[in-house]
Amino acid sequence: MVCGASISGLLAARALADTFDSVTVVERDALPEGVGQRPGAPQGNHLHQLLSSGLRVLEEFFPGLATELLRKGAPALDTRDLSQAYLEIGGHALLRDGSLADPDALNIVLASRPLLESVVRDRVRALANVDVVDGHDAIGPVLRGGAVAALRVSDRATGRERELPADVIVDAGGRGGRTPAWLADNGFRRPDEHTYRVQLTYATQLFRVSADMHEKVAIISPSLHRPTGAGLIAYEADTVIFTLIGVAGHQLPTDRAGILAGADHHLPAHLGAMLRAAEPIGSVQHRRYPSSVWRRYDKLAALPHGLLVIGDAVCSLNPVYGQGMTSAALQARVLHKTVAETGAEEVGRAYFRAAAKRIAPLWQGNRLNDFAVTPVDGWARWPQRVFNAYTTRFMAVASFDRVLTETFLRVLQGVDSGPALVTPGRVARVAAGTRRGARRC
Ligand SMILES: Cc1cc2nc3c(=O)[nH]c(=O)nc-3n(C[C@H](O)[C@H](O)[C@H](O)COP(=O)(O)OP(=O)(O)OC[C@H]3O[C@@H](n4cnc5c(N)ncnc54)[C@H](O)[C@@H]3O)c2cc1C
Repeated sequence: MVCGASISGLLAARALADTFDSVTVVERDALPEGVGQRPGAPQGNHLHQLLSSGLRVLEEFFPGLATELLRKGAPALDTRDLSQAYLEIGGHALLRDGSLADPDALNIVLASRPLLESVVRDRVRALANVDVVDGHDAIGPVLRGGAVAALRVSDRATGRERELPADVIVDAGGRGGRTPAWLADNGFRRPDEHTYRVQLTYATQLFRVSADMHEKVAIISPSLHRPTGAGLIAYEADTVIFTLIGVAGHQLPTDRAGILAGADHHLPAHLGAMLRAAEPIGSVQHRRYPSSVWRRYDKLAALPHGLLVIGDAVCSLNPVYGQGMTSAALQARVLHKTVAETGAEEVGRAYFRAAAKRIAPLWQGNRLNDFAVTPVDGWARWPQRVFNAYTTRFMAVASFDRVLTETFLRVLQGVDSGPALVTPGRVARVAAGTRRGARRC
């Protein structure tokens, strides 16, 4: 039994379907047929990109998914042509000519969040042993003898409640998932929460463009000296999403004129002009993201047998780095393996511990990156100052160094981990490039 049919819930269902005879996904929303926004996933209105590393995991679960997304109109970012991306980090634009040395290592498909979710949902619905029940609220597990026995659900249309028998229940209800409260109500400890403030704001407008766009992605990061940034991605059906990003509580415009002014301010001039000529679709969407949260289920001494949690309900990461769906995919991969190895009774501890090992590097990377852009929660301590100074130099040199540009893109897309940025070879390259850069000035 899976609560929530967003990305984590769908991937959890796919993972469980290889071990269990029957899997039911319970979703509160009435799910759209095909591609569509829905109230339970309001983040779908905003800039979304699935990292290359996340797409790799999704391909393991759903072979041919990338090709299907491309067939449905999602553009691909061609890593043989770096001019298709404009990335400005810490005030430095990355190299924009030529190709990556290993372009096939990155598979970047630019599907909107609703398209991605609908394709994954259809793949899950097509599994013979998975049933998706929408329009139902998951109320909570029913326990018998210390193990989950059923999930209590309520039909949102009629209010009728019933119990669906279950050996395993996976809470994929997102950041607001109910498991901590449910544990407390049933005599268990709540998981400890690691949190840190982000105070992020998104303001987004979707557009339809008539001309073919050469740049498929433009990201301008906020910095310690500028509390705003911006992101633009070309999606399917000639649509382009543009998001203004505010950090440290910075207020963003709420109207289209303000969004376009923000585009002019952040983007290269021709992209700002392109948005002014484009047709807006719908209204400006806003979203606040107060803090990143990691609930440490892996540290709990006692949990009911068969009760699991996945995705944002475990760890909600600052969305600016686009890691949330990849984190969900990595957790689903762990679920797939542990449930096959241990069965329903014993899966909990093994799953939470193994999932925490996948989450930890994402969490640490997220936090470290935040120190480079967000002046909240201890950013001024000396290790962060050293990291920030190194990152600034790295980006400055990457603006003319192909190797550093490629290193950065691989880490950004989750193909390599953060330490790849600070190997002795890369540190030496940054130092040499900094000296060369100084001579250029
Ligand atoms: C503004 C923003 C931008 C983001 N950008 C990116 C990005 O670029 N790349 C990326 O990888 N990630 C991004 N993320 C994160 C990403 O959206 C999530 O990590 C991803 O959706 C996985 O979340 P989830 O499935 O765990 O939870 P959610 O997506 O929050 O879904 C929870 C689901 O559970 C349902 N539900 C909740 N309670 C119940 C209940 N009691 N009963 C039944 N159903 C219930 C909800 O209706 C919903 O469908 C972004 C997030 C935000 C907020």
